[in-house]
Amino acid sequence: MTLKLYDTLTRAKRDFVPLDDKRVRMYVCGPTVYDFAHIGNARPLIVFDVLFRLLRHLHGDSHVTYVRNITDVDDKINARAAERGISIRELTETTYNNFKEDVAALGCLPPSVEPRATEYISNASASTDMVRLIGKLIANGNAYLAEGHVLFHVPSMPDYGKLSNRPLDEMVAGARVEVAPYKRDPQDFVLWKPSPPELPGWESPWGRGRPGWHIECSAMSAALLGETFDIHGGGIDLVFPHHENEIAQSRSAFHTHGMANYWMHNGFLQVEGEKMSKSLGNFFTIREVLADWPGDVIRVAMLASHYRQPINWTVKGLEEAEKALTSWFDAAAGEADPRPAPSVVEALTDDLNTPKAIAEMHALRNRAGHKSLAGTLAFFGFRADAVNAWKAARAPALKISESEILKQIDARLAAKAARNFAESDRIRDELAALGVVLKDSKEGTTWEIGR
Ligand code: AMP
Ligand code: ZN
Repeated sequence: MTLKLYDTLTRAKRDFVPLDDKRVRMYVCGPTVYDFAHIGNARPLIVFDVLFRLLRHLHGDSHVTYVRNITDVDDKINARAAERGISIRELTETTYNNFKEDVAALGCLPPSVEPRATEYISNASASTDMVRLIGKLIANGNAYLAEGHVLFHVPSMPDYGKLSNRPLDEMVAGARVEVAPYKRDPQDFVLWKPSPPELPGWESPWGRGRPGWHIECSAMSAALLGETFDIHGGGIDLVFPHHENEIAQSRSAFHTHGMANYWMHNGFLQVEGEKMSKSLGNFFTIREVLADWPGDVIRVAMLASHYRQPINWTVKGLEEAEKALTSWFDAAAGEADPRPAPSVVEALTDDLNTPKAIAEMHALRNRAGHKSLAGTLAFFGFRADAVNAWKAARAPALKISESEILKQIDARLAAKAARNFAESDRIRDELAALGVVLKDSKEGTTWEIGR
């Protein structure tokens, strides 16, 4: 089966050919650890986890390296720590530990390497680091020193802007670039900035300072995956300026034609049809959603839309995901084949077509004699025990016995037959108050536990 992936840079779906099929290399931009990750952040985590699983399936577990960084140096971190009156280290450690718990609860495999930006500012044991990379850019004539800052000079790279393919003025406006007097060109961006004594700083040839955001990913991807690698991923908002600038830095430093061969970007998540924002009151952290739903249900709900499309996050979607997952677990009981169904793998090889994969799982469930549903659930990392524990914890304890319910149903039928509808409604409402929902049909009246 040939994997096809859509590449944002060439704007085409292409056969995936790794540079080295014994070492498939993927880099995904990770979180800035200053607060709980929100449900939108869960999308790239889940999408690229599925891609990681697929690559491991196709190339062998030990032949895939997935790097997802932790940004633990950032002005938002500095501001938040000051606001809360705690040390930067305490803030980043606590936030990172929460993040780790959240992604594990979502059923994502840990990446092969999870480098922290602060460990790659200056790291003699790595093949490169941010300070050396910036030094190279200055030596190559792509960067310059101005008022204690080091800036990347965008016009030094003639084909800058290919990834986002936007006219220059739009790029400048879109990024709300800071117009600083020391910039030679308004598009130039910061590689290094000076740190006052009260802020974190590292020694460098340009004085005590801290790195800009973009240089982190160029340094960590080069140190851990090489100057060029296979796949680079993140959310669509990272295309410009973050990924555009990563490309500019890496290509200029290493004199290469490209940084990654496939650039993959997930679409944005909206909540109940609206942009998620704190002011609209529809902002949810992963932690908050996990309080109401098992991680695997969140995962199915996220995979119900193709990763490049926007996704509308709704309670209805979660309810449907829960039903689907439960039906798969029920249908897979007793199966022993550990391999995923070929039809599901095939759907995923078409640029990670997860809605099709889910449809294939429904088809499998409905097919008599199917054998590969359990293997497919294991491939995705879905955990029946966790979902069952969640259900058991939520099932309301009935305050009425089954025999009493059946007696009440008979009494209601008798009342109906006597056209005493006030009495039949009273019985129905009384049962509903106890969490018992009645369903009338041609075959008679049945009951179930309501939520
Ligand atoms: P950030 O911490 O904002 O850099 O985001 C971490 C990752 O989550 C990046 O890959 C973002 O592109 C992605 N992301 C942020 N918000 C959303 C959203 N609402 N929907 C989908 N992805 C998002
Ligand atoms: Zn990045």
